[in-house]
Amino acid sequence: MKILLVEDNEYDVKLALHELESLPNKPEIKIVDKEKDFQKALKEFMPDVIITDYVLPDFDGMRALKISLEHDPFLPVIIFTGSINEEVAVECIKAGATDYVLKSNYKRLPFAVKEALGKREALIQKIEAERKLKESENLFRTLAETSIIGIYLLKDWKFVYVNDGFLNIFGFSRNETINKLGPLDLVTPEVRDYLEQNLVERLGGKVDKVNLILKARTKKGQEIFIEVFSRVIELNNEKHIIGAVIDITDRVLSEIEVQKSELLFRTVWENSMDAMRLVDENGIVVKVNQAYLSLFKVTEDQVLNKPFYLVYDESSYNENITQFSERIKTNSIPPKIEMDMTLWNKEKIYIEARNKILFIDNKKYVFTIFRDMTERRKYEMELIKAKEEALEMSRLKSNFLANMSHEIRTPLNGMIGFSELLKEQLNGEYKEWATIIHNGSLRLLETLNTILDYSQIEADKVIPYLTEFDVKDLTENVVRLFSQVAHKKGLSLNFYCNLKNNRVKCDEKLYRRIATNLINNAVKFTFKGEVNVILTEDDGNFILRVQDTGIGIPEDKFDYIFLEFRQVSEGLGRQFEGTGLGLTIVKKYVEKLNGKIEVRSKVGEGSTFTVYLPKNC
Ligand code: ADP
Repeated sequence: MKILLVEDNEYDVKLALHELESLPNKPEIKIVDKEKDFQKALKEFMPDVIITDYVLPDFDGMRALKISLEHDPFLPVIIFTGSINEEVAVECIKAGATDYVLKSNYKRLPFAVKEALGKREALIQKIEAERKLKESENLFRTLAETSIIGIYLLKDWKFVYVNDGFLNIFGFSRNETINKLGPLDLVTPEVRDYLEQNLVERLGGKVDKVNLILKARTKKGQEIFIEVFSRVIELNNEKHIIGAVIDITDRVLSEIEVQKSELLFRTVWENSMDAMRLVDENGIVVKVNQAYLSLFKVTEDQVLNKPFYLVYDESSYNENITQFSERIKTNSIPPKIEMDMTLWNKEKIYIEARNKILFIDNKKYVFTIFRDMTERRKYEMELIKAKEEALEMSRLKSNFLANMSHEIRTPLNGMIGFSELLKEQLNGEYKEWATIIHNGSLRLLETLNTILDYSQIEADKVIPYLTEFDVKDLTENVVRLFSQVAHKKGLSLNFYCNLKNNRVKCDEKLYRRIATNLINNAVKFTFKGEVNVILTEDDGNFILRVQDTGIGIPEDKFDYIFLEFRQVSEGLGRQFEGTGLGLTIVKKYVEKLNGKIEVRSKVGEGSTFTVYLPKNC
């Protein structure tokens, strides 16, 4: 401890020193009696306490006090004086002296020093405490002002303090809020009663702290969800509620969304007709739905947390089961499998499984949807059987037709030959009857041939036999076959050919049939005008075009007439004879020869059938 003693009287110095040396830790003492030395000592010696005489030759105690206070307002100054009246003493204390000691009572000096130092310490501590308080007050104020959390202080049901965070949440200004609004004005009507009750209980001292989630309304009327933390505090002997508000609308809404989608998922999962199963990467069943339990005839206890394959009989442990772990590791689980499986209870089912690899919390799972295809499979098998039977029937039919044709053709040939002979030998009425028999037999032969050709097509037995022939000659011959009929009907039947080379490589028999059928139809469906048969060519094809000025075909029947047995005029009232097979055969033959057929027609004006066939089939 350092003491600066300001004293000019030698005896007083001695007395003071004597007393002061009794202080513990033996203080370091410096003695001055002039203002200049005093100033210097203040700076260099840096005393902890000053003891100064009141009357000095060069300056006085009051001045020393003033200088000292200016230097350090906390430095204790004790006035040590021989004579001082009350007034001066009070003046000194007022001016900032810590204490005064009468020289007659010099023994008090050490106590005065101790006391002054104690006071100084206490003062410094008080100031420090005040500074700290102010600092923390500032800190909390800044925190409150900058917080996005709404902070409020409530007194007598009205807000007396709110921060910006609070204003931002509800959208009111501070003026609109302070002393005007209370919590009941901010919540939605349905929670008002509850909140009022709660506030009454708290202010009545029943509850101290609360944490509430409430539905509130902003100034604009928008509904929001808030979470409030608050407690009752005493401020100036009055009850206040201090609290924090957080806008949790986004959180609540997303929770509601999650709940909704969870509900949706659960509804789908539980009510799905398809069996669903989730297994982890080790093939352990994590979740199954009701449909799964029904399909595999098991209870949850039998499958959950167990290997997925336990629902199958060992005889059904296929590669999908034995290689499950490798497949899941390499992501090669097949997305769709159909399989015949035997269940644990030996029941056989045919199931379709659709797999999808999922990641949940970074873990791999396989989600599978099963569909029981047993019934469909049965149905498919029946269909396949029915188709095979139908094919067999068709084969039988072809055989039957081939046999029948032989049986019919033999007597028919006799009828044709002999009726022709009779036609030549007989006269008059008999000749006419023989002609009718001859023509009828020819028509019967034609019909028989058509049916046979068709049955060949049906049995897929048409194999083109390619030879080179003169297509002009062949076509002209066919045309000639119809000249008599055409002539009888008063039609002009013409043949034109502008081929550069008449020789083509094609199936002669099939081509003849195509030409015959088309010309036959043209003559059959034409009553006046002409039928033109034209042979022409383009790059790779020779083209047979049969034009007539007949009854024509409605446009919506263009495709229809190529179907077997189909005719524009059908049923009992049909106006034309024929089987409805001619164009079917033509189309099939054209296709067999890698060609194509086109039809253009207008009802009442006529039709044109055009066949394109490769010159070199
Ligand atoms: P069919 O002549 O034996 O009845 P097709 O298969 O040859 O059988 O012809 C089917 C139908 O197409 C005919 O019944 C007829 O209604 C129509 N048709 C075919 N060619 C012509 C044509 N040149 N003019 C008008 N109608 C035609």
